[in-house]
Amino acid sequence: MSINVRIKSALAAAKAAGVEALLVTHLPDVRWLCGFTGSSAAVVLVRGRAVLFTDGRYTAQAKAETTGTRIGISTKPVVAACEWMAKAGIARCGFDGTQTTVAGLAAMRAAVPAKVRRGMFVAVAPLVARLREVKDAAEIATMRSAAALGCRLFDWVLEEMNPGMPESTIALGMEVRARKAGAEGMSFGTIVASGKRSSLPHGRASAAKLPRRGFVTLDFGVLVDGYCSDMTRTVHMGKGTSEERRVYEAVLEAQEAGVGAVRAGAMVGDVDEAARSVLRRIKFDGKKLDKYFSHSTGHGVGLEIHEGPRLAAKQEQKLEAGMIVTIEPGVYLPEKFGVRIEDMVLVTAAGGEILTPSTKAWIEL
Ligand code: ZN
Ligand code: ZN
Repeated sequence: MSINVRIKSALAAAKAAGVEALLVTHLPDVRWLCGFTGSSAAVVLVRGRAVLFTDGRYTAQAKAETTGTRIGISTKPVVAACEWMAKAGIARCGFDGTQTTVAGLAAMRAAVPAKVRRGMFVAVAPLVARLREVKDAAEIATMRSAAALGCRLFDWVLEEMNPGMPESTIALGMEVRARKAGAEGMSFGTIVASGKRSSLPHGRASAAKLPRRGFVTLDFGVLVDGYCSDMTRTVHMGKGTSEERRVYEAVLEAQEAGVGAVRAGAMVGDVDEAARSVLRRIKFDGKKLDKYFSHSTGHGVGLEIHEGPRLAAKQEQKLEAGMIVTIEPGVYLPEKFGVRIEDMVLVTAAGGEILTPSTKAWIEL
């Protein structure tokens, strides 16, 4: 999708929301709309075009990264954007209410003359973020390569893991490998949660040492050209107990049911239910396993590690071809152990294509 098509789609969404212009300050949205990757930016979309405001540190970078975008330089890009709109006679401008602070809105209002201030700024839904949920061919290609690099890191880590090794050493090794392979970095702080710590859904790699026997959950991703990958595998050090294997098989069955429910037109709540219902019908210590599945089934991924759509219970949104979502059910038994398995899945008309095809079979190291 060319930048022009993106700008047109965003303006069409703005028009449908009752505003003639959009003020965009969320940096992933800015990048998607004009290519600029700096840390200080505001974009005004109006009359079919984008105007980028940034500060003096980024003058050369803004020119290099954008094409056909008018650029304004100011120490206060958002204020400059608002002043520019007032001068251009824009009476109603939408802004993303989920990305603007109370102080930010006050500064926007203070930047325009009192006589136009009333009714000028209208909080609208995250319109650009919603458009970003559906990836174009180039984005899909980039995310495919990020996901494939993630799979290579998993292959490598299987060779490296040994009892007694600190979780943080594993995480560092993965990061070094990722960087050497051309990634800009990791898409979030790598999760290596071993032994009892695997019962923490978000156990960042710590100084804890890998056990002789027990699970290790690895949840990680890389950043390639600004796009994130995200995958989780849970492996076992030493021989697993029958209890551990049962829970693992249950999570795997739930994960595969979730992946199987992915297709364009499917309701996100139904995909969540496909995974959750598997765990609901398996009992463990007299309790249904879904009691220990404490988060949603998945999320969109792209320029942000967590973006729309949300694949959660009763959530109503239809999957669309070109969305890339995760399917990541988990079971966390407090003080015992946890298992999570996560793939990135490309939504197609026919179903879901797994972008992270690393094995999900039971692994004992
Ligand atoms: Zn993850
Ligand atoms: Zn995830």
